[in-house]
Amino acid sequence: MEMKYRFLGGADMVGRMGMTMEANGKTMLVEYGLSPTKPPEFPLPAPKVDHVFLTHAHLDHCGMLPQVCGRNDCELFTTPLSAQIAELMMNDTLKIAKAEEYVQPYNALEIEKTMDAVVPMSYGDTITLDGIDVTMLDAGHIPGAAMFAFEKDVRTIYSGDIHTESQRLVGKAKPSDCTNLFVEGTYAGRSHPPRKETEKKFLAKIREVIDRGGTVLIPCFAVGRTQEIMLLLKDLRYDMWVDGMGRSVTRLFMEYPEYLKDFRALKDAKKRFSEVRNAGQRDYAKKGNIIVTTGGMLDGGPILGYLRNLKDDPKSAILLVGYQAEDTNGRMLLEQGCINIDGEAVRIECEIQKYDFSAHADHGQIVKFIEECDPDNVIFMHSDNRDLFLPDLQDYNVILPETGKEFRLEV
Ligand SMILES: [Zn+2]
Ligand SMILES: [Zn+2]
Repeated sequence: MEMKYRFLGGADMVGRMGMTMEANGKTMLVEYGLSPTKPPEFPLPAPKVDHVFLTHAHLDHCGMLPQVCGRNDCELFTTPLSAQIAELMMNDTLKIAKAEEYVQPYNALEIEKTMDAVVPMSYGDTITLDGIDVTMLDAGHIPGAAMFAFEKDVRTIYSGDIHTESQRLVGKAKPSDCTNLFVEGTYAGRSHPPRKETEKKFLAKIREVIDRGGTVLIPCFAVGRTQEIMLLLKDLRYDMWVDGMGRSVTRLFMEYPEYLKDFRALKDAKKRFSEVRNAGQRDYAKKGNIIVTTGGMLDGGPILGYLRNLKDDPKSAILLVGYQAEDTNGRMLLEQGCINIDGEAVRIECEIQKYDFSAHADHGQIVKFIEECDPDNVIFMHSDNRDLFLPDLQDYNVILPETGKEFRLEV
């Protein structure tokens, strides 16, 4: 049997994912996200769909689901943890749209209806839909992240975002035999330094900054990175604070220990950090040694308050631990040493350092993963420069789909 595929977004970029799969008069949608730019950018409109699959709860994968699941009668297959985090993310998207006066892509009722559509699945579970067996696999990346295997005459795997090396928070994605492999290529042409070395340098810098009388500010994404950093710092004997949406996400992670590599370790880390629950506590946090807070790209959230407070102190440091997209404060800080607060360019005198704590497999790890899955067809997505993989994949039929254009594969 043949399946018709069409990307609605996210094929040739990191952001606004969405792909339809059509066979036997039924349409499935894999992910529906947005690019969290200012204002956000959306994928192409989705057709009427019967089933929806969500790999994980980062905004570029889940941020637009209410437009589909809130307006169609469809089932949404994902891990219960991803569903809970997605609800947080979707509500936050709506809150930001209201505050910034952006177009509101959906309403609160449609978020509720999306949550009602959730059919929870766990790693290893298989369901049969219209004659196709769908199995959920562990993707590494962040807690609750999944890959999907679709199987009828042949096997097709959709990776979502994956990491093939173990992190402190989660284990790794394992390769699995298939004929068609849809795989992310975020790190095309780039490789990560060994994680252990990065961790060592990062901890040494923290000690250096605190020893010279400075404060360490660590802007972090709420989902995954905040907790990975808390796990790394949990044995330090400093005054450590955590602020922003990462706190709620940590609580959700703790409710689903089966998706964590080491529940006890995260529980210990949570205890070691003081949580900022209100504005008054933020004043205490400002006097602490280490502050871990959202937003990860310095474009909003409590981070801006801390920056205002520390900006003139060359003894303090801002340690960036995540990807800084173009046109964000984080990128501006790295390239120009200043950020934009309320339309005003503010010079930052603190030391600025960047560390690679990526939750994605790098170029070499993706190539190895592909070789171990041993597919005939490799379909690249979630990448700004997919063609960098071509020289390493001459034994495969590589497909670089374009947004909006249909292609067919055996299923
Ligand atoms: Zn992701
Ligand atoms: Zn992603």
